[in-house]
Amino acid sequence: MSVRVRFAPSPTGPLHMGGVRTALYNYLFARKHGGQFLLRIEDTDQARYVPGAEAYIKESLEWCGLVPDESPWVGGPDGPYRQSDRKDLYKQYADQLVGSDKAYYAFDTPEELEAMRDRLKAAGVAAPAYNAVTREHMRNSLTLSADEVKERLARGDEYVIRLKVPRHVEVRFEDIVRGWVVVHSANIDDKVILKGDGMPTYHLANIVDDHLMRITHVIRGEEWLPSAPLHVLIYEAFGWERPQFAHLPLILKPDGNGKLSKRDGDRLGFPVFSLDWQDPASGEKSSGYRERGYYPEAFVNMLALLGWNPGTDQEIMSLEQLTQLFDLERVHKGGAKFDPEKTKWFNQQYLRMRPDAELGAQLLAKLKAKGIDTTLERATAAAVLLKERATFVEDMLEGSYLFTSGSPLEANDAANEELKKRWKSDVAPALEAYIAKLSSLSPFHTDTLEPAFNEVLKEKGMKVGQVMPLYRLFVAGRMQGPGMFDVSVLLGKDEVIARLRAGLDHCAAWV
Ligand code: GLU
Repeated sequence: MSVRVRFAPSPTGPLHMGGVRTALYNYLFARKHGGQFLLRIEDTDQARYVPGAEAYIKESLEWCGLVPDESPWVGGPDGPYRQSDRKDLYKQYADQLVGSDKAYYAFDTPEELEAMRDRLKAAGVAAPAYNAVTREHMRNSLTLSADEVKERLARGDEYVIRLKVPRHVEVRFEDIVRGWVVVHSANIDDKVILKGDGMPTYHLANIVDDHLMRITHVIRGEEWLPSAPLHVLIYEAFGWERPQFAHLPLILKPDGNGKLSKRDGDRLGFPVFSLDWQDPASGEKSSGYRERGYYPEAFVNMLALLGWNPGTDQEIMSLEQLTQLFDLERVHKGGAKFDPEKTKWFNQQYLRMRPDAELGAQLLAKLKAKGIDTTLERATAAAVLLKERATFVEDMLEGSYLFTSGSPLEANDAANEELKKRWKSDVAPALEAYIAKLSSLSPFHTDTLEPAFNEVLKEKGMKVGQVMPLYRLFVAGRMQGPGMFDVSVLLGKDEVIARLRAGLDHCAAWV
């Protein structure tokens, strides 16, 4: 049987990175086994529906390269793929279960339900539930006569359909990640499967759809593990073969203290969503990895390793490589701590792998946006130097001094503070000597600049650490950056000499 898996988000807001990871594992598993990856929108709970959330989910998955084979947007053989477009289909399945005595009508009013809970609480029951014991005392088709039930239905009395959970059974299933899960049915209540308005609850719709869509493996977050025994019972009630389950570990906050939730937004200093999002009701904005400048490949690579590893130390893996290596057996049971610094590291690795010309073009665009004009050739040469220290393309803008002319010390408080700490008047003759050497240097190249600089140090009896910081501040206006000989070559002889002179003049007043 060919593998068919699905990602089944509810459009209740933006896609949390945990959701993207669920989609990713489903995608990898489907690809690895030559199967299909479906997307189903679970929007039966209209009260929680958020406009824009579905479009957001689509865009997020596209950005990550996780495009489903079947979905509401491209269709497929088992559509429709949006539960609100399937709503007329579920009632017959609930009725089928009533017909086979696996479910029943319940006519209890909210007041009666409340009274039941109060009664049980008073009797010392900690978590009162509508279950195999209490249903015997409630107003439902198990306790009412067949005639009365018929009459009530004919009259149009409001009812829900509840699953008739068997009283003394052990529900067992083997989860691919967690191993055997065994729950006694006494701990499962008679969940409503069809609501008063004729709409299915999440549980019924989810199972009917997984069955009709021929899903072979349900790969989803651990928060659904408590529902899984109930789902097993629903499959048994229908007499359907059930898919295999794999419940993925939670993604934890960086300190390991609890689940990383949607509500964490930007509060912890990093995004929890894939794309920027603005809540349509409150207007509240949350940032996304895409807009922060992350490469989707880096984001996806990081997510793949959040709860899984290939069994080796390999960390950098493309979607194709991940597909080759992925297996559900290696998914961890324990929660996976999210590491924002490691996420940046991944982006840095992917940035370094980009072709120089592409980085050059992106840097050029960013420079233009800041009103700095240069050529693609120069931007590319600069990108080659700047990418070593950059996590994002944006970071390369710290090298804008490579594109302007004139001393970088003007209106540069940070540089002036550094200068004041580092300036010693005996550096002046060394830099003067260096200027003199540069003037006649040919060719003007790293291979000639470095020996020239070293000769000056030797002649003046000074250390690199005494002269280099000044050379750097005079020419680049900052303490961090690419090697000064490379920087100098890119700027050209005249510009370097002019900046060194301007720097010396600038400090002359302090002697
Ligand atoms: N609609 C559920 C969710 O939003 C899907 C759970 C499942 O995959 O079965 O997470």
